[in-house]
Amino acid sequence: IYDVTAMGEMLIDFTKNGESEQGNGLFEACPGGAPCNVLAMLNKLGRKTAFIGKVGNDQFGRLLKDTIDAIGIETKGLILDEEIKTTLAFVHTFPDGDREFSFYRKPGADMMLEEKEVDEELIRGSKVFHFGTLSMTDEPVRTATKKALETAKEAGCLITFDPNLRPPLWKSLDEAKEMMEYGFTQCDVLKISDNEIQFVSGKEDYDEGIQYLQDKYHIPLIFLTMGKDGSRAYYKDMRVEKAGYPVKAIETTGAGDTFCGCAINGVLKYGIDNLTEENLEEILQYANAGAALITLKKGAIRSMPEPEQIEEMIKNGSQN
Ligand code: ATP
Repeated sequence: IYDVTAMGEMLIDFTKNGESEQGNGLFEACPGGAPCNVLAMLNKLGRKTAFIGKVGNDQFGRLLKDTIDAIGIETKGLILDEEIKTTLAFVHTFPDGDREFSFYRKPGADMMLEEKEVDEELIRGSKVFHFGTLSMTDEPVRTATKKALETAKEAGCLITFDPNLRPPLWKSLDEAKEMMEYGFTQCDVLKISDNEIQFVSGKEDYDEGIQYLQDKYHIPLIFLTMGKDGSRAYYKDMRVEKAGYPVKAIETTGAGDTFCGCAINGVLKYGIDNLTEENLEEILQYANAGAALITLKKGAIRSMPEPEQIEEMIKNGSQN
């Protein structure tokens, strides 16, 4: 029995790490992929997790498998493809902290997972099924994701969704929006970022954007993340907001995923039926603290904060 099974992409993020003597850029191969980042945080919080996805049976694919094995994520649902190579992404960070991604994925192994390769037993044995939109950009993984969701629904899993919009991966932004909307029809818990809510709702104001979504999809619980400004939760007629923790962020990769892992942990703790304002405040505070801590380190999956560090952050109100 698992607390959370996540499905989606695993890839290598190459992030620039200095220059050689000749002045060439040096890139660090960081294990990446939002769903496993979320699971890595959940494992730190003592949850049992499993992953479903595909990498190439190449150096990078084996590195990814070994990395999540070492963290304690169940990998029997991770397929190693003999033909297609592991997906690669190069991440360029601008001085203001914004990032630009170049994906090497035409095709990449993560999008080649087939319906028949989805380990349904893992899903049936899980309390929560988590997914995003990177496994819906292309076939065959789009059909595999839809199948996995059907299985999760049948099994009574709580469904959590973080769209993780990555525009360069889509043939068109209309298609991205369509798949995000499909996700909204499926999920019980949505984690969405400020720019994503503006994108799908066409509304500048976040509250108006969320209202637009609620009117259409009636999602029981929505978490909105707003970078350094913190986060909000929308549940029944409640709207709860918590400010972010002031930190000197060095790299924000994985902040959203860390937030998501902490938030799912909170929902597992309290259940989704009778959350109170206090519960939501506690969840936001914990998730903001966890996410702020990950911005102090490079990479994500191997850098998830310890629960003790998160508690200390909450106690002190900042990193010191
Ligand atoms: P990702 O870049 O991983 O996709 P995201 O866009 O989904 O992230 P953000 O809204 O950027 O998510 O960040 C998630 C959470 O991380 C925020 O709600 C906040 O709690 C924390 N966070 C992000 N950036 C900072 C920062 N500079 N300082 C403090 N906290 C931060």
